Amino acid sequence: MTFKAEYIWIDGTEPTAKLRSKTRILATGAELPLWGFDGSSTNQAEGSSSDCVLKPVYTCPDPIRGGDDVLVLCEVLNTDLSPHRSNTRAELVETAERFAAQEPIFGIEQEYTFFEGDRPLGFPVGGFPAPQGGYYCGVGVDEIHGRDVVEAHLENCLTAGLGISGINAEVMPGQWEFQVGPLNPVVVADQLWIARWLLYRTAEDFNVSATLAPKPVRGDWNGAGAHTNFSTKAMREDGGYAAIITACESLGEGSKPLDHVKNYGAGIDDRLTGLHETAPWNEYSYGVSDRGASVRIPWQVEKDGKGYIEDRRPNANVDPYLVTRLMVDTCCTALEKAGQV
Ligand code: ADP
Ligand code: MN
Ligand code: MN
Ligand code: MN
Repeated sequence: MTFKAEYIWIDGTEPTAKLRSKTRILATGAELPLWGFDGSSTNQAEGSSSDCVLKPVYTCPDPIRGGDDVLVLCEVLNTDLSPHRSNTRAELVETAERFAAQEPIFGIEQEYTFFEGDRPLGFPVGGFPAPQGGYYCGVGVDEIHGRDVVEAHLENCLTAGLGISGINAEVMPGQWEFQVGPLNPVVVADQLWIARWLLYRTAEDFNVSATLAPKPVRGDWNGAGAHTNFSTKAMREDGGYAAIITACESLGEGSKPLDHVKNYGAGIDDRLTGLHETAPWNEYSYGVSDRGASVRIPWQVEKDGKGYIEDRRPNANVDPYLVTRLMVDTCCTALEKAGQV
């Protein structure tokens, strides 16, 4: 007897990495072995020395194939088993271990857009739909495009055991969101990559494509982001508001705003314009309930005096290993200095 293992990895495409996968047939009960691939076909190696190594890091049931089949997220290593230059997970693991005592957790809101050919699902051939206003969390065929795909994706994520916390239709037609978390930094990022792979794979069966492009349509149409919600134990505890302010302030100190934003996804200056519920990419701000700020403190958090913050800057195409590492590093270092742990 055998089972199928779908090995999934993040490639070296620039400026935004792509997901790749291939199938391995294994004997029932077998452990998941290291595997390899041709790095010269994924912008991860030269043809003359093309082998890269796949090391399984996160496994879950395969909801597409079912049965005993599994999805296997891998990190990419060099043949000496050191992390490949495209491997941003390895550094996150180190940072997360360093600050594990603060118990950081994340909930990431993944926005995305369906495309049919060269236009967003719901956009008429050669024109535009009615302006934004009625689509966000809408209902009915005049407002909603692709719900069958969204429902199938949600079901697949749940069958895979991912910590999805919700879905909603977004501001632009054909644009949707799912949320992963709250979970610890490494797990939320691993699960988000799997959920993205499942999104593309599920949409395949409906003959539509999904994209994480941050500004899929120019003009008066919302971009697609990946709001990153963050808290530590101190922020979640009674009286955690002081720690929340420390975290918000730390993200604005010195070179931090630029250090973060330049790692928050390619094309961020096209999306963070100051319009369409964004703050300008080069001006850091935070505020309660403020969807025009870089970082929002939800109203309930101010009322309770504890909870979490939302970094609204990351693009839909952000690498979750990068945004979680930067936020843990910046905020947890500041909280440690302030004795708020
Ligand atoms: P909105 O659209 O209003 O910005 P969502 O409901 O889409 O908010 O997303 C909020 C996210 O915040 C969810 O992913 C949720 O899991 C996450 N979240 C809730 N509480 C915390 C917390 N204490 N720490 C980190 N993330 C949290
Ligand atoms: Mn949301
Ligand atoms: Mn949203
Ligand atoms: Mn949000």
